Amino acid sequence: MQTKAAVVRAKGGPFTVEEVVIAEPAADQILVKIVAVGMCHTDLTIRDQNLPTMLPMVLGHEGSGIVEKVGANVTKVEPGDHVVLTFHTCGHCTNCLSGNHLSCENAFGLNFGGRTHSGDCTIHAGDEPLGCSFFGQSSFAGYALSYERNTVAVDKSVPLELLGPLGCGVQTGAGSVLNALNPPAGSDIVIFGAGAVGLSAVMGAVIANCTTIIVIDIKQNRLDLATELGATHVINAEQTNPVEAVMELTGGRGASYMLETTGNAKVLEGAIYTIAMGGEGGIVGAPAMGTTINVDVNFMLFNRHLRGIIEGDSNSDIFIPRLIELYKQGKFPFDKLIKFYTLDEINQAAEDSENGSTLKPVLKLI
Ligand SMILES: [Zn+2]
Ligand SMILES: [Zn+2]
Repeated sequence: MQTKAAVVRAKGGPFTVEEVVIAEPAADQILVKIVAVGMCHTDLTIRDQNLPTMLPMVLGHEGSGIVEKVGANVTKVEPGDHVVLTFHTCGHCTNCLSGNHLSCENAFGLNFGGRTHSGDCTIHAGDEPLGCSFFGQSSFAGYALSYERNTVAVDKSVPLELLGPLGCGVQTGAGSVLNALNPPAGSDIVIFGAGAVGLSAVMGAVIANCTTIIVIDIKQNRLDLATELGATHVINAEQTNPVEAVMELTGGRGASYMLETTGNAKVLEGAIYTIAMGGEGGIVGAPAMGTTINVDVNFMLFNRHLRGIIEGDSNSDIFIPRLIELYKQGKFPFDKLIKFYTLDEINQAAEDSENGSTLKPVLKLI
């Protein structure tokens, strides 16, 4: 199948839009005609090789599209189905078999290895093999090959071009609150960072009926949107010390729930001190590999919990359709985060994402 794809050939980019050939689906693969694909921080992390992978590679891991063809062993979806593509897991390691697929022991190779399960290359530029199967999809392309485990059938009544970000960034933010931290109604929560993940977390906190939702960022346009989406308090960290402000807003006890989405180690070091005694903090933002922080051990000793959260602790087959239903009911307006670009505008989309002028770029393929 001949199509266009955005290829990263060297550390730091740029993305180059090239003619490529996508292989026919293997027995366990699904060929999806990509309608649109979100751009997520992890695409840029890999472009910049902060997490080293093979290059050249076709990235893209928030694809949405229409099933074109399925391999002989695929029964979950059929041609014509609308699907969202998400992160990939193996289904047969100890953690997957224990029902904890978010801790899949084979996740690194399956999502970042640049080859299919069987080690094949499925994307070529002429005779040149390219890194493929990024997050089991490589969806910065007109067509992508996915698997049953990372393909979620979705409601056909909702515009498909909106739905790709539910596969990673949006489910990460909303799920970190609704699945991982799971605050009871009436809770207080503080969210560091009002990017696409942080604002999705704000919407999750509203759905969870949190009554104090404090959001911290350094960009006023993002804080304004946080307020529009339901934040009860916003703090501009360029003007106000956020840790002191959170302590004041919570009567000196800190917040019962904290979520760090910026990936900035200095922000995380401060954010930890906003966790109330007995409270729980989640780390969602990813700094460069090898980054460490200093933590006051005795502060943590008083029943404070701190955990990492991958992909919002989501079982995507259940969680993505729920988010779509909430969107249809007007309770999860994630479309407010999205700005559309064409595939040819992918480098502009990356730049706008990095400078904060666009919260969630989505590339429209058709
Ligand atoms: Zn596994
Ligand atoms: Zn992502």
